[in-house]
Amino acid sequence: MKNKYDVVIIGSGIIGSLTARYLSRYNLSVLVVEKEIDVGMCPSSANSAIIHAGYDPKPGTMKAEMNAKGNRIWHSLAPELGIVFEKTGSLVVATSEDDVSKLKQLQEQAAANNIPGVEILDKEQLKTREPLINPEAVAALWAPTAAVLDPFGAVLAAAENAVANGVTYLFETEFTDFIIDSGRITGIRTTKGDFICRRVINAAGLYADEVTRKAGARIDFSITPRKGSYLIFDPMKITLKNVIFPVPSEMGKGILASTTTHGNVLIGPNNEACDGKNDTATGEDGLMEVFNGAKRLIPSLDLKNVIAQYCGVRAKGNGTGDFIVEKASEVQGLINLLGIESPGFASAPAIALRVIELLKESGEKLEEKPDWNPVRKPFPHFHRMSNVERKKLIAKNPAYGRIVCRCEEITEGEILDAIHSPVPARTYDGIKRRTWMGTGRCQGAFDYPRVIAILSRELGIPAEEVTKKGKGSELVYRGTKECAQ
Ligand SMILES: Cc1cc2nc3c(=O)[nH]c(=O)nc-3n(C[C@H](O)[C@H](O)[C@H](O)COP(=O)(O)OP(=O)(O)OC[C@H]3O[C@@H](n4cnc5c(N)ncnc54)[C@H](O)[C@@H]3O)c2cc1C
Repeated sequence: MKNKYDVVIIGSGIIGSLTARYLSRYNLSVLVVEKEIDVGMCPSSANSAIIHAGYDPKPGTMKAEMNAKGNRIWHSLAPELGIVFEKTGSLVVATSEDDVSKLKQLQEQAAANNIPGVEILDKEQLKTREPLINPEAVAALWAPTAAVLDPFGAVLAAAENAVANGVTYLFETEFTDFIIDSGRITGIRTTKGDFICRRVINAAGLYADEVTRKAGARIDFSITPRKGSYLIFDPMKITLKNVIFPVPSEMGKGILASTTTHGNVLIGPNNEACDGKNDTATGEDGLMEVFNGAKRLIPSLDLKNVIAQYCGVRAKGNGTGDFIVEKASEVQGLINLLGIESPGFASAPAIALRVIELLKESGEKLEEKPDWNPVRKPFPHFHRMSNVERKKLIAKNPAYGRIVCRCEEITEGEILDAIHSPVPARTYDGIKRRTWMGTGRCQGAFDYPRVIAILSRELGIPAEEVTKKGKGSELVYRGTKECAQ
């Protein structure tokens, strides 16, 4: 294994992966180290999936600048990387005259942040845009540039494009320390050995405070994790057209109701204390808080139609709460990306491009590769195809004719694509996140045995070693009878 790189990125969330993708444009050897078994495990895959328009952050902050730029970039970046991206726009809904004055303040903030097209809709216009809205709603702030995407799909697309352009990813490889010589970083230590490098980008998300402290930089910065729970509804029972927020409060943007790129209704998040950075457990109290909050926006939501729940963990930084995107001043060779909480996803392309600028300012000579390919072609998605397209695909490869997940119509061909992709899926969840297998009404009841058998065959491991999301999450103890083929 090569152990010398120009740049090492710690973390393969959306920030690390987009930074890797933009860096892959230059003649540099780039390594991404990730402690988990896959890219974008959390929070980059467990969030509200909204590319916020950018009216919400306080004008003049790094958050405001990055959100506005990031939103603009996503509109062209998503098609370039083959990411499913729905230009929904977003609504902030007022239910009282007091709320309406807050909408006006948000509209002024939108103007200060240079967000285009933001206007206030009256009751009738709101009802036309979102027929299921609470009849007590009196007005709404409409931000047309907001969008929703598949967050894991976006991280994966960035990582696949980075790998296609020469970046190396190492999984289950945890950064443990820096190697520092005369005040300059010369390498990192990991659970898979040492790597020599000139520059390190700290994109460790929730753990970025622990990473920077190891370099003796920003030692007062700390992250307090805060949980946000979500519920997902059966799209056969209820659908929405928009992203719908309540009027924001001191506590944040509030519990929202939104459509997803897969047509489900998503509601959440609340704001709960965490039992550690790994605590993604959902509980009845938190989920009921989410449900009751979202019902104020969409009264027809019915608990009977919930098909899934999950929880994401916010990287809440101390201090001003603004993003920190900077060259460390205490040690040479380190770029810190700290406190990247919401709107971190919307801001991610702008943050990644800012990292490139910081590298240039540090004296890094960035020569463009003549053969850099910015385009990533997604694998076929059977569910989204017409019957004519499906027929052609099956004629090319009969594996696309074998349905493994009935609810979402995911085929064996798509599962094989996921396992043999440039950033390969090696677990059940890895396939689920790439293909959306197991996310429908039956929540995997039908596909589990089939997918275990396929993973076992393709990875050349016994079924007992197939895991849900890495070591310790094995799915079967021993065989009782043959798994369904
Ligand atoms: C509930 C919730 C809702 C949100 N909703 C939105 C939204 O709608 N829109 C929006 O714009 N933003 C939203 N966000 C914020 C957004 O999700 C984050 O800002 C973004 O995902 C942060 O990405 P990241 O790459 O910085 O961090 P992460 O996703 O945390 O990635 C960091 C990576 O570093 C790895 N890592 C950590 N330590 C080490 C180590 N020692 N060695 C190796 N690897 C390491 C981790 O395993 C992880 O994969 C939301 C966040 C939450 C929690």
